[in-house]
Amino acid sequence: MPRYEYRCRSCGDTFELNRPMAQSADPASCPAGHDDTVKLLSTVAVGGVAGAPAPRGGGGGGCCGGGCCG
Ligand SMILES: [Zn+2]
Repeated sequence: MPRYEYRCRSCGDTFELNRPMAQSADPASCPAGHDDTVKLLSTVAVGGVAGAPAPRGGGGGGCCGGGCCG
């Protein structure tokens, strides 16, 4: 289940929730009970690691984008 990170605009706290993607846009209350929260977009991690996407072989190296293939 994806983990989403939220920030409370009332107390400034950040917290994480594990919830289905279908509910990712639903309102979330902070641990202190405030409803004025926003979802942070930085954390979209399924399994734990959030970071730069790994380069994939075959097309990501710039060869086919640089004109040398055609
Ligand atoms: Zn709060």
